[in-house]
Amino acid sequence: MLADEGVRLLWHPSLSEQTGSQARDVLEACARGVQGFDVLCVEGAMLRGPRGSGRFHVVAGTGIPAIEWVRRLSERARHVVAVGSCAAFGGVTSAGSNPTDACGLQYDGVARGGLLGAQYRGAAGLPVINVAGCPTHPDWVTETLIALARGTLRGSDLDEYGRPRFYADHLVHHGCPRNEFYEFKASAERPTDQGCLMENLGCKGTQAHADCNLRAWNGGGSCLRGGYACIRCTEPGFEDPGHPFAQTPKVAGIPIGLPVDMPKAWFVALAALSKSATPARVRENAHSDHIVAVPGSGRPHSRK
Ligand code: SF4
Repeated sequence: MLADEGVRLLWHPSLSEQTGSQARDVLEACARGVQGFDVLCVEGAMLRGPRGSGRFHVVAGTGIPAIEWVRRLSERARHVVAVGSCAAFGGVTSAGSNPTDACGLQYDGVARGGLLGAQYRGAAGLPVINVAGCPTHPDWVTETLIALARGTLRGSDLDEYGRPRFYADHLVHHGCPRNEFYEFKASAERPTDQGCLMENLGCKGTQAHADCNLRAWNGGGSCLRGGYACIRCTEPGFEDPGHPFAQTPKVAGIPIGLPVDMPKAWFVALAALSKSATPARVRENAHSDHIVAVPGSGRPHSRK
């Protein structure tokens, strides 16, 4: 697909034949400007430690820290693409006390800066393009590369965190198969329940910018479809939620993390109203791992 769009892979650590000195020669030629290239794709967090030396991650056989390679190559690139939330924001590598002093290419969590600095722009004028996600959706990567190859990705196509808006203008909540349970606040209590995972099991799909439930993974999946709560993996700082991922922290019974764009008072009022109007079918199905009440029957569907 990428080849059809005119994208030629110069070198990739897993997909290319060149290894060892051959791979180092490619990197060196690119860094010196002998070999031209358009897009530098970087996966993984930038390890600045210890003490800013970057020597926690030295590229094998070169004796040069990865952060130095990235700095050199980014000076030559027309575009720099951070593939995944670690490269974009630091991600799980920067969690907790962050002993390796990990950061993203142009962000350190929510703060602009990172390895390359807030003012960095590729030769074509764009900041680092953050294809965030942990993991990132393969389609987001290919769609970004194709847009760059066609010259159609502009600054206005990136959101406040540099993520392509074609996927970041959506919320994970959009298209979730549990939407009916959310509407009536019919909540799952156990991981195997079919109900909405927001109230009890930590789902942050209403706060996470991504189209995971509109653009199926592997042709048909998503975290929610697999029974896992959304943990906001496309957002900076998701790795340190301050609570277990599969639990919803609450104050006075109200989830702390409310849907984006929704005032707390409205959410509380709507939730109370929704719960009072929950159809028996929805309530029963929410607390089961399979359909026990079918639409329109008005009575439970017995399982044989
Ligand atoms: S489980 Fe999460 S994404 Fe799905 S409807 Fe509930 S809040 Fe939205």
